[in-house]
Order: sequence, then structure tokens, then C-alpha cells
Amino acid sequence: MSSFDLSEFKVIAAMDIAAAVKAGAKSVTLRQGAVVTPSARDAAASAGIDIAFGGAAPASPSAAGSKWEALLNSPEANRIKEEICAVGRKLWHRSYVDGNGGNISYRLSEDAVLCTPTLVSKSDLKPADMSLVDLDGKQLAGERARTSEILMHLEIYKSVPEAKAVVHCHPPHATAYAITGRVPPTCIIPEFEVFVGRVAISPYETPGTKKFAETVIPFAKTHNTILLSNHGIVCWADTVTHAEWYAEVLETYCATLLIASQLGSPITQIKPDKTQDLLNIKQRLGIPDARHGLQECQLCDMPDPVGAIAIPPQPGSGGKHTTAPDAPTPDDIEAIVKSVTDAVIAALEAKR
Ligand SMILES: [Zn+2]
Repeated sequence: MSSFDLSEFKVIAAMDIAAAVKAGAKSVTLRQGAVVTPSARDAAASAGIDIAFGGAAPASPSAAGSKWEALLNSPEANRIKEEICAVGRKLWHRSYVDGNGGNISYRLSEDAVLCTPTLVSKSDLKPADMSLVDLDGKQLAGERARTSEILMHLEIYKSVPEAKAVVHCHPPHATAYAITGRVPPTCIIPEFEVFVGRVAISPYETPGTKKFAETVIPFAKTHNTILLSNHGIVCWADTVTHAEWYAEVLETYCATLLIASQLGSPITQIKPDKTQDLLNIKQRLGIPDARHGLQECQLCDMPDPVGAIAIPPQPGSGGKHTTAPDAPTPDDIEAIVKSVTDAVIAALEAKR
């Protein structure tokens, strides 16, 4: 029986077990006190790998280990850890996460990402809970096991060089869109256009899996905010605070649309030349949008998925269709009624 020595590591993830299985191991030896993630335990159980504790921790940390420990405890990392804790509390207080839901990360260096742990409420986060992972999700440092959803964050970092921070949460109004397969319409509220704009919706996959992580790849470059089908949302930005802002902007927008859709009147739309002004501001801020580079006339005409909101948006006040010259006059309305009536009568007569 070949045994695989993993006593070098403080935290054992599923991929460590997979590596041992690949090497032909029937058991693994861990250091006393090593943390085994739930998915690592499952992987060991399904591969029939025995886990033995008792390996001694290395007398002195390896050079690689001490490098990552140093990065995890660097002044910059410590500042970001505080920011992540503050953002976690905001998410929880705004009811964007519940239970241990949601996760937050920040790219500290080219090959290392700071992230929240698994199984901790975002309102209870402490700086010491954070861990450091590489771009494959392997934990490099930190006492607590990293979030299982880090793989999705990593796909965003790999696809978008500008992405420095990722926030994933489950805000109810935006998630209402995500569970109905709808995306909110655009050209309605300026702040939403500038900071978020047209969102994408990624197909459903089981959370925590590599397949789930990869669902965001086609959208991440041109969308800083993505609806995750039957799940929640994910936002990326230059800072953790800004990524959380985008979650707030989207959630408030979705809530406003849902309230407006109950008022019984059509929602008015910002006209295309004014939308172009907003997109120009957005481009100056360096915020991506799938509509950058489109003609003005195309900006608000991109088809919304079926049933984007209860009542389709109408051209806005100040828009050319509601100002006096183009608004239908009583005569116009009478003419329309007459032509419809004529057509109905003609059809009835043709049937006789
Ligand atoms: Zn989630």
C-alpha cells in the first residue's frame, strides 16, 4: 500500500487528494491539526483513500510556504482583509447573503488571490479567516479552508486582467431575475447604465464545480456584473468596495423595476443620444459594456430576453415620441380607431 505524505500542508483540498490518487496512493499522511475540506473528505471517501494524521509539521516552513505566509500577512494584504470584512458586513446587512452564502476575493499578485473562507457568515468575517490561493484554487496559506466558489472568481481573474476584486452574493431582486432567466432592460436609470448596464446571464451549473466556474468565461470581459442562473450574481471591479457597489446598483435597479412594473403605467426609456452620453462617461471611467462601439440607434434596441419586465419600456419624457410634434393627436387616435374598425368590418363581411 503506497502512502502519500501531505504533512507539508496545513489545509488539504480535494485537488490534493486527486493528486495522491493520480500518484497511485491508497492512503495519505497529514500533519497533526491539518484542516481537511469537506470536498477533500468526499474525494478521499469516494476514491477509498485512508487519511492518517500523525505526520510532523516541517520543523521550519519551506521557502515557498514562508513566501506565501509573508504575502498573506503583508501590510497590503492586511488592509484588504479589513476591506473584505467591511464589505462582508455590508452584504449581510443589506440581505444580499444569508447562512454562509456569498464570497469575496482580491487578486494580491499575479499568482495569488486573497479570499473568504468556506462556512462563515459574511457578517462574522475576521481578517484572520482569510486565505491565499493560487490561480488553480490550491490553498497556499491561511488557517481556514478557502471558499468552494473561488474557482468562479479565478476564471474571472484569468479572463479579465483589469479585474482585481470579485464579489459573489444572492440579492433577492436580482436573483429573482436570475431564477426566471431574465435580464433587466437597459436605458432606464442613468446610474445603472454607467456602473453596470446590460448584464449577462450565465447558464446553470452546480455551484462549487469547475463547470460552474467556467460558465462566466464568455461574459466576464464585457460585463462587470453577471446573473448566475438559479443562483445569484457575481461582480468584478478594481476594488472589493467597488465590486460591492455594482451589486448594490444592480439590486436596487431590479427592485425599482419590479415596483414600477406594478404601477400599471409603462416604464419610460432614456432616448439613445442621452444613453450615448452615459456610455461615453462609462468609457472614460474604464467600465466595460457590451454596447461600447455600437451606433447610437442600436443602443436601446438590443433585444431584451422575453418578459424582461412586465410592461415594455416606452420612449422617455423629452424623448422625441412624447413631445408635442410626434405625440398622437385626438385626430390620429380617431384615424387609428377608424382604420382598425374598417379592417374588422371588412374581415367580417368577407366571411359571409
Ligand atoms: Zn452562491
